[in-house]
Amino acid sequence: MKTYARRDGDGWILNGSKMWITNAPFAGVAIVWAKVKENDVVGGPESIRGFLVDRGTPGFETPTVHGKMSLRASATGEIVLTDVRVPEGNLLPLAKGLGGPLACLNQARFGIAWAALGAAKACFESAVDYCRNRVAFGVPIASKQLVQHELVEMASEIAKGEILSLHFARLKEQGKLSPQQVSLAKRNNVHAALHIARQARALLGGNGILLDYPAIRHSMNLESVFTYEGTHQVHTLILGRALTGCDAF
Ligand SMILES: Cc1cc2nc3c(=O)[nH]c(=O)nc-3n(C[C@H](O)[C@H](O)[C@H](O)COP(=O)(O)OP(=O)(O)OC[C@H]3O[C@@H](n4cnc5c(N)ncnc54)[C@H](O)[C@@H]3O)c2cc1C
Repeated sequence: MKTYARRDGDGWILNGSKMWITNAPFAGVAIVWAKVKENDVVGGPESIRGFLVDRGTPGFETPTVHGKMSLRASATGEIVLTDVRVPEGNLLPLAKGLGGPLACLNQARFGIAWAALGAAKACFESAVDYCRNRVAFGVPIASKQLVQHELVEMASEIAKGEILSLHFARLKEQGKLSPQQVSLAKRNNVHAALHIARQARALLGGNGILLDYPAIRHSMNLESVFTYEGTHQVHTLILGRALTGCDAF
């Protein structure tokens, strides 16, 4: 962590930076997680605290990340804090340690597990439609065994992802869903969706690279989803630790 907070009279001074923040370039308020330093000594894990920082506060900057080929519809930026002073009232009173941000992440990750399936379904449906209507040598390509194999693989992964997510949603309603199960759902569904988007892109042939069809757009966007809200690899490590008891981070 590169962001630190230190007490200053009846407020706090924040210094640090964080790359890759969705909507940073225009958000009116940022929630910043910082480690508290006292007399230049950084505290332990419990010292991580959340602060609200309003746009316009001196020392608060949000340069835009340019050149993204993925999630192009949303602005992404960096948050840079240089001696940013916030009042005591801007400190989140109850969140102490990583539990605060992780509680938010857990909700977002579960949402992403479902969102990835939506992207996968759009790609799958577009591919089925195309294969039924694309006639090559007098017959639709949907009548070919290799094409049907691809479509069946795609449908199977979507069905498995949906049943997994529905089961986990029911556990969540009962307050029984663990963070590790959320990792499993996010990791599995995004990985499957990325593969399905690529399969659809291939089945669409040349048309697959056009924005007229959803596959290439979802494929590019899913590359970000693979990385954010816990990278695929980090979820692997979370699950590896849960299964073995050994920390491989
Ligand atoms: C479009 C977009 C929007 C985003 N929005 C937000 C946002 O709103 N808020 C926010 O906080 N973040 C956001 N992120 C950040 C995202 O969470 C990070 O990009 C992600 O955590 C990876 O960090 P990094 O980019 O620094 O990669 P790095 O940490 O440099 O990782 C590079 C690679 O190394 C792997 N790796 C890292 N450590 C290990 C390890 N111990 N063992 C094995 N492999 C490892 C990673 O899995 C990855 O594959 C966003 C990212 C993108 C692309």
